[in-house]
Amino acid sequence: MEISGDLLIGKQTLRGTNGSIKGINAATGEPLEPAFGGASLDQLEQACALAWQASDIYRELPLDTRAKFLETIAQNILDLGDPLIDRCVAESGLPRGRIEGERGRTVGQLRMFAAVVREGDFLGVRIDPAQPQRQPLPRVDLRLRYVPLGPVTVFGASNFPLAFSVAGGDTASALAAGCPVIAKAHSAHPGTSALVGRAVQKAVADCGLPEGTFSLLFDSGRDIGQGLVSDRRIKAVGFTGSRGGGTALMKLAAARREPIPVYAEMSSINPVLLFPHALKNRGAAIGKAFAGSLALGAGQFCTNPGLVLAIDGPELDAFIEATAAALSETPAATMLTPGIHKAYESAVNKTAEHGEVKTLARGCAAKGATQGQAALFSTTAAAFRANPELHEEIFGAASLIVRCPDLATMLELVEQLEGQLTAALHIDEADYVDARRFLPALERRTGRILVNGFGTGVEVGHAMVHGGPFPSTADGRSTSVGSLAIDRFLRPVSYQDMPEGLLPDALKTANPLGLNRRLDGKLQLSK
Ligand code: NAP
Repeated sequence: MEISGDLLIGKQTLRGTNGSIKGINAATGEPLEPAFGGASLDQLEQACALAWQASDIYRELPLDTRAKFLETIAQNILDLGDPLIDRCVAESGLPRGRIEGERGRTVGQLRMFAAVVREGDFLGVRIDPAQPQRQPLPRVDLRLRYVPLGPVTVFGASNFPLAFSVAGGDTASALAAGCPVIAKAHSAHPGTSALVGRAVQKAVADCGLPEGTFSLLFDSGRDIGQGLVSDRRIKAVGFTGSRGGGTALMKLAAARREPIPVYAEMSSINPVLLFPHALKNRGAAIGKAFAGSLALGAGQFCTNPGLVLAIDGPELDAFIEATAAALSETPAATMLTPGIHKAYESAVNKTAEHGEVKTLARGCAAKGATQGQAALFSTTAAAFRANPELHEEIFGAASLIVRCPDLATMLELVEQLEGQLTAALHIDEADYVDARRFLPALERRTGRILVNGFGTGVEVGHAMVHGGPFPSTADGRSTSVGSLAIDRFLRPVSYQDMPEGLLPDALKTANPLGLNRRLDGKLQLSK
């Protein structure tokens, strides 16, 4: 499929009339053809109007139709074949194997949500039948189901050009919930976005859905992204990116006449806690594995382990020695964009020059202009406590080890951390008693607590939480990965004394959709 550089507005492909952007080959810095026309405010209006028109129709289509739509998107993405992979590798600088794996994850997510939609539990059906004889007052008939919020805007992520972009997790969960999606392409991968967008647009046509179910816009500045968040017809936002970008959109959404939720995934340093027995028994092995996790994908993961807390001493030195040895052999890797590379270099240099920080190791020197060189730093607990700038995320393969005098100090520093996506505990059995004391603080601060592993590698499943308190995300009550992500785009509605003839099928007494439901508070399984 040829990349035309056009906007996808409903079933149309239209040239954007507000400036243009070009993709950039991440490895060489060369611009890639074609140019993509940025959407104008009129074109934004068209996309929003179509999404609004589609909304009430799309949400009431049979669940099986919605599920088939998600499966058709998955197949259409696969049908794009190698040109999608080639373009994505060029735009992102990520290795081919990683991008192929990410395509598998993207397709897998869409299929998982298709299964979730068919099963129908997300509708959360509850029925409290009327009790006309109840004394002193009769009870009304109350029935509840979850309905979709309405059109959703999705900002694609630079670091997951497939799995968290145009047809990624946010889009899949919003479409699964019954919400039309207007995707705002990330400027780092417009060609990848265009190809995937065409696959979704084709799926809309293949399945005979209202054309406004999906649109894709390019933005040559900030007007379209901000215009989408401000538009009265948009009812929620999915975003992955910088803290600055995410908080700007949160403010915009909160200032609307009708404020809307922004599910922004932003900034996390993902503390790694090394407990004494594990450190003593296997410090070097943990160090080697840590270096692998730190450098994975040039460190450009939201779950990258950017902070290590451990008790100072010879055991920690052995961990550092193994980490430093592994890192010093780690090749520099191409970063996603020149901007992200520049931000990484600047943050690493600033940390290296910090009076309270020691540079412990660097990865192999960069061979290309946008390659990031891994970095390992250390500081003391007192310096970490006194310098909040050391708590900030460095997006890339950089991590800070904090030498603590004891476990009480480790716990105290955990209490000072901002909200996190993950925390990793390295423990042996003899550490369990100490580790248990950390759990309440970690539960307050993180979305996922993992043992003897690292947060990189996020399983897409039903029990996954990829979320956490601010600033890791805008709203720690939800997840952006896994089937529970659908809940972000739903809200409950009760129907009181509604005649059977008017009730949605999901709430009819005879249960024509065969849904599991809660009848008078008791779970009733359909099979
Ligand atoms: P970004 O600059 O926040 O951009 C993300 C998306 O939001 C892009 O589509 C961008 O548009 C748009 N955007 C950003 N600020 C906006 C604003 N004020 N108004 C309207 N739209 C706005 O993030 P990025 O380019 O992906 O990466 C930059 C930094 O984000 C990284 O260095 C890293 O610190 C962080 N990051 C974090 C994660 C994570 O998972 N935690 C992931 C990726 C990046 P354009 O495409 O037009 O710029």
